[in-house]
Amino acid sequence: MGKVNNWHLKRDMEYVYEEARPKRQWAIVFDLNKCIACQTCTLACKTTWTSGKGQEYMFWNNVESKPWGGFPLAWDLRVLEKLGRQDWAKNGSYAGKTIFEAAPPTERAVHFAPQDEDWMYPNIGEDDCMGLVERGGHIGALPHDKWFFYLPRTCAHCTYPACLAACPRKAIYKRDEDGIVLIDQSRCKGYGECVRACPYKKSMYNPYTRVSEKCVGCYPAVEQGIQPQCVVNCIGKIRVMGFVSPPAKARDDNPIDFLVHKKQIALPYYPQLGLEPNIYYIPPIHADRAYLTQMFGPLVDGAIERYRKLQEDPVAQGLLVLMGSSDRILHRFEVDKGQAAGFDEQGAEIVRVPVTERVVERLAFDEKLQAPRNNTP
Ligand code: SF4
Ligand code: SF4
Repeated sequence: MGKVNNWHLKRDMEYVYEEARPKRQWAIVFDLNKCIACQTCTLACKTTWTSGKGQEYMFWNNVESKPWGGFPLAWDLRVLEKLGRQDWAKNGSYAGKTIFEAAPPTERAVHFAPQDEDWMYPNIGEDDCMGLVERGGHIGALPHDKWFFYLPRTCAHCTYPACLAACPRKAIYKRDEDGIVLIDQSRCKGYGECVRACPYKKSMYNPYTRVSEKCVGCYPAVEQGIQPQCVVNCIGKIRVMGFVSPPAKARDDNPIDFLVHKKQIALPYYPQLGLEPNIYYIPPIHADRAYLTQMFGPLVDGAIERYRKLQEDPVAQGLLVLMGSSDRILHRFEVDKGQAAGFDEQGAEIVRVPVTERVVERLAFDEKLQAPRNNTP
């Protein structure tokens, strides 16, 4: 075991290999306040990557309703239960053990193996709300006492991947150029150690090819400066893919760094597991705070408070409008004079949008024609 720094935990931790951060790190930010669970992302991924034999059950991108949904079944509850007590210190560092530190001596990580049946209900719990809504019930103050929210999930191309740590064949590697984690299909022997070890359950076994597979971060697109399929097809425009820096190297004009480091409104999920996952979520403002704290850690209150104040921040507003406005990777953005612009790696402008769309309101009654109007064709 080596000592590595995990900035999500604000401390060093044990990991099987030495710290080796890639030149840059693939990352996605999701605004959970905007996801509508249309599953367009899921199908965009499915039709691109997992329409072959043995992949029928796979959803490298899935969207589950929290708190009841989970693909595979109850993956998060089972990992948290196995890990045991998780405490955060007052200074914001994680005081408990990660899945690597809590592992028994013969294992690389605390883990569980999903059974075949656990993968059979990708939509379980969809739209099921926490608590019963009485007839005539209504939404009162925030956060709501009856709540659910949608959680889209891909592989997090973790800085400290458990899949990679557990592979006895060293078939899993993390690319230096973008931090994407891949399984070398020719080295993999299908032992399934990665499937067991990944706490997010994003490595999957193909019973036809008899090797493991996982989300490839749409690396062929990323190499061309294009964002992944699940991002560019997102109907709700809730996602932006780019590159996240460690805190000391964060740049305010990098869209991901801006949301993660400068505004601190986008948080990793289950950071206490210790993988430094590189998908970040703007938490839903309406859901139960204790549940969100368990999922996103103690920074969740501040993140929600700052998110609710974004209407006073034109730069942040501009970036939220840029999300979903281009299929290209935005390496830099700027907001000026009511317009938000995004730039590619060479500095060329690739998108420009107004921060506030002009709204034209039609009167409900047309005086000239003496006719009522409605929006039904
Ligand atoms: S496409 Fe976007 S809005 Fe639709 S389910 Fe996926 S993440 Fe949510
Ligand atoms: S989410 Fe799972 S499969 Fe993806 S890199 Fe992390 S440990 Fe590996």
